[in-house]
Amino acid sequence: MDFNYSDEQTMLIQTARQVGGKYGLDYWRELDAKKEFPAAIWQDICDAGLCGIAIPEEYGGSGLGMAELAMAIEALCATGAGSTLSQIFMCNPIFGGITLAKYGSPEVKRALLPQLVSGKARFAMALTEPDAGSNSLALKTFARAEGNGWRLNGQKIWITCVPQATKLLVVARTRKLEDVKRKTDGISLFMIDVDRAGLTHTAIEKAGTNTLPSSLVFFDDVRVEAEELVGELDRGFHQLLDTLNTERIVTTAGLVGTAELAIRLAVNYARERKVFANAPIGSYQAIQFPLAEAHIKAECARVMNYKAATLHDLGKPYGSEANMAKWLAGQAAALATDRAMQTHGGMGFSKEYHIERLWRDARLFKFAPVSEEMVLNYVAQHDLGMPRSY
Ligand SMILES: Cc1cc2nc3c(=O)[nH]c(=O)nc-3n(C[C@H](O)[C@H](O)[C@H](O)COP(=O)(O)OP(=O)(O)OC[C@H]3O[C@@H](n4cnc5c(N)ncnc54)[C@H](O)[C@@H]3O)c2cc1C
Repeated sequence: MDFNYSDEQTMLIQTARQVGGKYGLDYWRELDAKKEFPAAIWQDICDAGLCGIAIPEEYGGSGLGMAELAMAIEALCATGAGSTLSQIFMCNPIFGGITLAKYGSPEVKRALLPQLVSGKARFAMALTEPDAGSNSLALKTFARAEGNGWRLNGQKIWITCVPQATKLLVVARTRKLEDVKRKTDGISLFMIDVDRAGLTHTAIEKAGTNTLPSSLVFFDDVRVEAEELVGELDRGFHQLLDTLNTERIVTTAGLVGTAELAIRLAVNYARERKVFANAPIGSYQAIQFPLAEAHIKAECARVMNYKAATLHDLGKPYGSEANMAKWLAGQAAALATDRAMQTHGGMGFSKEYHIERLWRDARLFKFAPVSEEMVLNYVAQHDLGMPRSY
């Protein structure tokens, strides 16, 4: 067990800090107010090779692992973005990149992965449905066979970055639930164009993550071509699970970076702010202890995430570690941003000090992309061998 960063990892972290540092907190506050996608920083991230960290070299990536990707995302998010930037990584190198690298045909990989790495193609992923939610296996979106392709009908909810995406990874049933032996069978993955006839989307008004739109997506007899199937027909759910656990690693990395940023802002403020006598508020244990507690939780999440990522990169099972890290990181970031707001008092509630944005955005990750309760269900069943409770 080696807790040192390699030279390559140190360089990647430095690059990520440089790219993120060019933009900083004010950039994100401005785009958040305008509800505008952070196109400039994303292009810079791609140009610096950070989107392609875990994509194979033959498709323009660096061929490194999830550990390196996590380190870069932590560093980027800690420079000012907070957790939302990690969502763009989820959509692109994870749902686009990892899915295609593992399950795409050679032609599709050659066509799409270099474009993903360069930032030319952008991706979104549509799993969640209004009537299914955490129970993904109850999804109803259906792809009916037609000629050598399919016709897609159904509805998705909360899909991130659809207007910015060129490609959408759609999770759909290709066999009805009543026709399959196991609920996990009969689901397939398709990578389709977002501007396809019959595909429409509308934005959802929401509490935060303003730079990344969330949409309702409707499929009305959308034509899907044979070559748009990703991986094996009817085996899509098993493939998706593989990708979803890498999504947890990226989520955790973003939250660890957010916690680091919120704690740094709070410590800086607490060192300067004087209210009573001549001592700054940072001299009070009431201010110090909650920040120290958040820091401990964030560090534990970071280490658990490196374990999950390292196991992934070694080709070993890592689902439990990835889920536990995400659970811890969601709590750490929620605690860190909340305590940063408490430390700032009224100024934490103002736009000027950036905390309110980090606080709003971090809250999402206590229930998405997987909820705390579903992680606890997973750990109770898989790690403790307890019966399924639902
Ligand atoms: C801003 C945002 C962006 C998103 N982006 C995407 C995206 O790009 N693509 C995509 O496919 N989805 C996306 N999602 C959806 C997200 O993954 C879901 O919101 C999340 O999985 C929870 O599902 P739900 O909202 O339907 O909650 P529900 O499943 O309705 O759950 C509601 C509550 O009940 C609890 N609960 C449910 N079942 C159990 C149980 N068995 N035991 C204990 N507690 C339980 C949950 O933990 C939760 O607290 C996004 C959501 C948001 C809000």
